Amino acid sequence: MPNNPINTNLQRRRFFRIAAGSVGGVVLASALPSAAFADDLPHLTLDDPTAKALNYTEDATKAPAPHQVGQACSNCNFFQGSDSGYGPCQLFIGKAVNAKGWCSGYAKKA
Ligand code: SF4
Repeated sequence: MPNNPINTNLQRRRFFRIAAGSVGGVVLASALPSAAFADDLPHLTLDDPTAKALNYTEDATKAPAPHQVGQACSNCNFFQGSDSGYGPCQLFIGKAVNAKGWCSGYAKKA
């Protein structure tokens, strides 16, 4: 019965169930190592030459001009972490920056 619509529907549902499970597994597997990797990154220090050049600060509320109220790493386009704690920044490869920090490379998240 290759053209039985009931069988075809069942096969289609089974296919999508398996596909969804596979995609979920891949997403989970790819997210876990990056989360673990982010936790392993050393924090960017204030005496880092690039951090100095870009006026990086751990506390955006004390950042110098051209900082504007509300700007922080957590809402910067280069930040790859969550709203708190530390996370990777695309300008400081291999280092984690403070979500509450700021530097003059700031670009508002789109
Ligand atoms: S580029 Fe953005 S995320 Fe990175 S340190 Fe500067 S303000 Fe923070």
